[in-house]
Amino acid sequence: MPDKILIVDDSNMVRKTLRRHLAREDVQLEEAVDGQDALEKTATFLPDLMVLDVMMPRLDGIEVAKRVKADPRFSHIYIIMLTAMREVQDEVKGLDSGADDYVTKPFNSETLMARIHRGLRLSKEKSAATRDPLTGLGNRRAFDASLAHELARVQRSGSPLSLIMCDIDHFKKVNDSLGHETGDLVLKELAEIIKINCRELDVPARFGGEEFVILLPDTTLEGAALAAERLRAAVETHAFPGAGHVTVSLGVAQASGNSENLVKESDQAMYAAKQSGRNRVCVAQPVP
Ligand code: GH3
Ligand code: MG
Ligand code: MG
Repeated sequence: MPDKILIVDDSNMVRKTLRRHLAREDVQLEEAVDGQDALEKTATFLPDLMVLDVMMPRLDGIEVAKRVKADPRFSHIYIIMLTAMREVQDEVKGLDSGADDYVTKPFNSETLMARIHRGLRLSKEKSAATRDPLTGLGNRRAFDASLAHELARVQRSGSPLSLIMCDIDHFKKVNDSLGHETGDLVLKELAEIIKINCRELDVPARFGGEEFVILLPDTTLEGAALAAERLRAAVETHAFPGAGHVTVSLGVAQASGNSENLVKESDQAMYAAKQSGRNRVCVAQPVP
């Protein structure tokens, strides 16, 4: 897959220049015209690297960098900040926005390209540490970081947060009868189904082995139960190449107050789904 770069600048001219320099590279490009647009494109395009202007309408580059770096889903994105002149650059650095590198405008294209190559390499190293190589989903480490981030948000804002735990039914049989490689293909395909069924805000991850988790910000227990049921049905009706039909059991729980028991509760609910026949969703009993 080619590297993905998001160009963020309110100036048409600058975007056009950057586009021209990057056209020779094997990269996928996306552009944003202001800070708000940059945050939206970050979530949908998921760049590896961002070239970010500082002075922009709606939301400036410093705020964009801060928000991107604060979100564990995006913390691997390498940010090169474009500043207008050297004095401004020092000032911007002083603000400690979390940008990884700074380039002064007007930029020398060779310098910028060298910085971009370095940034892409570093971003890749960083994301490899938090990604499951088989499915491309976040790994346990990424999930733990997202969970901590979202739990802190629950405490600040009181917004609901739910978790779905999803485990393949009788997966050992798939491996035993069809081989480990087919088992791996099922895991990959299931990860794709999970991705397709997630909203932009949701954080899916491979929890371990044949267990997956989806963190659902701003979602109540009822909402998460509906999402889990949609996922269950999508898996049940899917034809897995080489393996035919596979089912999953799911447990759903909602964080209550400062609950850090969210994982335990959804795991218990998932276990209850197994006990009561598999291929179903069980909801954790809310703690009174
Ligand atoms: P249950 O319905 O109770 O969940 O039964 P199960 O067979 O799915 O559960 P169990 O925990 O007994 O077995 C899980 C299996 O998942 C065993 C293990 O070999 C397999 N597994 C774990 N990780 C991988 C992997 O990366 N690739 C493959 N192919 N199999 C894996
Ligand atoms: Mg299983
Ligand atoms: Mg299991």
